[in-house]
Amino acid sequence: MHEQHDPNCIFCKIIAGQIPSKKVYEDERIFAFHDINPWAPVHFLMVPKVHVPSMAQLAPEHEVLMGRIMVLAPRLAMEQGCRPYPEGGFRVVCNTGQDGGQEVHHLHVHVFGGPRPWARG
Ligand code: AMP
Ligand code: ZN
Repeated sequence: MHEQHDPNCIFCKIIAGQIPSKKVYEDERIFAFHDINPWAPVHFLMVPKVHVPSMAQLAPEHEVLMGRIMVLAPRLAMEQGCRPYPEGGFRVVCNTGQDGGQEVHHLHVHVFGGPRPWARG
């Protein structure tokens, strides 16, 4: 069994309200908030409330949770100002491990969007 929360994890602290964030969405399993260092006009992060370090630790028990994150992403993207598909749209990124460029080890899905150019990508 995984620990539900890691007391040293910055995203667990954000979910618990111990570190402030600009909340985008919350339900019983998922939390979403603006990235503190945005690369694009729209840039927010979607995280499971349970502490899973990265995609590398995903197991069958997470299928519904990850499916909910993916189905929620387009709705939140539109609410946050991404333009409609196909002229608009958004980019979803989940950095995993050192080779994947992951810096915070609590699984998070980046959603980027808005008119280009973007700072990166
Ligand atoms: P990654 O490289 O995918 O692990 O990205 C971690 C992301 O978390 C970066 O885009 C950071 O800007 C973002 N981040 C780190 N600390 C915070 C924070 N306190 N609030 C919001 N976003 C954060
Ligand atoms: Zn965590």
